[in-house]
Amino acid sequence: MTPEEFQRLGYALIDAATLALRDLRARPVYQRVPEDTREALLSQPLPIEGQSSEDLLAFYKKTIFPYPFGNDHPRFFAWVNSSAAPIGMLWKLAATITSPSMANGDHAALYETYAVIRWLMELVGFPVDADYPSDEGSMGILVEGGSLASFHGLAAARQWAAINDGWDARKEGMQHDHRRLIIYATEEGHSCLIKSAEALGFGAPRIIATDSQFKMDLKALKAAIDADRQQGLRPCCVAATAGTVATGAIDPLEALANLCEQEGLWLHVDGAMGGFGVLDERKAHLYIGMNRAHSLALDPHKWLNVPIDCSALLVRKGKWLRQSFSKIPSYLWLEAGKGFGGVLPGFAEYNIKQTQQFLAAPLGAVLRYAGRDGLAHMIAHHNTLAQYLVERIAEYADLECMAPAELCIVCFRYVPSERRDQEFLNMLNKRLTEMVQERGKVFLHHVMLKEHLVLRACIMHYATSQADLDALIDEVRTVGALCMQEHLANFPSTNIEYLPSQRVQHNKELAD
Ligand SMILES: *Cc1c(COP(=O)(O)O)cnc(C)c1O
Repeated sequence: MTPEEFQRLGYALIDAATLALRDLRARPVYQRVPEDTREALLSQPLPIEGQSSEDLLAFYKKTIFPYPFGNDHPRFFAWVNSSAAPIGMLWKLAATITSPSMANGDHAALYETYAVIRWLMELVGFPVDADYPSDEGSMGILVEGGSLASFHGLAAARQWAAINDGWDARKEGMQHDHRRLIIYATEEGHSCLIKSAEALGFGAPRIIATDSQFKMDLKALKAAIDADRQQGLRPCCVAATAGTVATGAIDPLEALANLCEQEGLWLHVDGAMGGFGVLDERKAHLYIGMNRAHSLALDPHKWLNVPIDCSALLVRKGKWLRQSFSKIPSYLWLEAGKGFGGVLPGFAEYNIKQTQQFLAAPLGAVLRYAGRDGLAHMIAHHNTLAQYLVERIAEYADLECMAPAELCIVCFRYVPSERRDQEFLNMLNKRLTEMVQERGKVFLHHVMLKEHLVLRACIMHYATSQADLDALIDEVRTVGALCMQEHLANFPSTNIEYLPSQRVQHNKELAD
């Protein structure tokens, strides 16, 4: 590609992106991929000869851009998936101009990454030591997703516990006769905590009950720890959550930090959904204790609107991560300050990955462009919008709030006066969700809270306004009424059983 062609194509691509941003609200939030388009996509042959860049762009404009996931739209409320801030889109490109690797070396992007990680610490009040970065003080890594962030946190907890007990989890693995290490999480904890514990050889975590606010029940946790000790097992790590994925509940972090200290346990805090909520000063008291975590997972690609993926794991002592992942073969030997040798360790020593993309570029751009105050303002605004939605829901007898809206997530459901038995309401709200999704005016999804299937609205888009929430209320009530008509004719026409039963099955497996 000549530089001239690059420029022409680049401008054309930016034009397409600009148009998409400008016309965002004119487009449906979501539309299903038409069958012929899907078939055409799936059956594409491998290009044998190179195509023209014009054809490539035309293909994206015609086939890819029109059928998005939907999270770029301000009326997308499903899951904890925000949009890409425009500055982040551009700096995703900036990151690839030289395509550096954060594995190691002496190059500017690596030092920028160290600074951006420190900014994250300062942003959420995680301790930063005067000699940052150091093995005895706090350290962090940027990774692709909160799941991977928590994976690294639990890996560090594993090696920390093993070394404290006089063995080496890396050398010996988990198939030995040391006391089994136990992880504790709640039934509202994210599935990545379970998957990480499984992959790391801990086995399934102990699932601790939650209270009426969906927060970890301290008494139940203490009882589980005591019971495990009595059985000769080794309680290792409490995996708490600052902003659960379903409702945004924040576990009692200060009490958990105290308990972990008393019991000699690692405290991991999953702040993927809500860690940045600490920036809303009305909420900051809920986060007291988060700064005492041994490890903290954050997801800038959620609440900070950094393009997917961009996440971070912060640890209170760098050596815990380094002792878990450092492995330097001869082809990576570098002497600090000589040749390509950096004055700081490369991130490959702290991460399962070797080659690592420049995630600090889009993240640093968002932090610079918005500033701490700009981000705090957006986050507080989202929390205020959630309270507005709660108030709007309270106006209608056919809507019902189903959980406290601690942060920017609102769980509610449609409850027609005609029929209110539990099973029916679950079926109705599932059907309603699907119809809302297919109509494309707004977009949300459902989640199971205890035995209730509820609608869940996560407010995370930088451009979402009160009018968008009014549209959400209107659409849910309109579609709710349509569902009731459908029901009176021939309802239910779809199999609506699968979700609740799947969840029950899942919980049963966890309890086992
Ligand atoms: C989204 C989320 C995760 C997983 O993060 P990914 O970035 O999707 O891998 C973990 N925990 C919570 C609470 C989340 O909301």
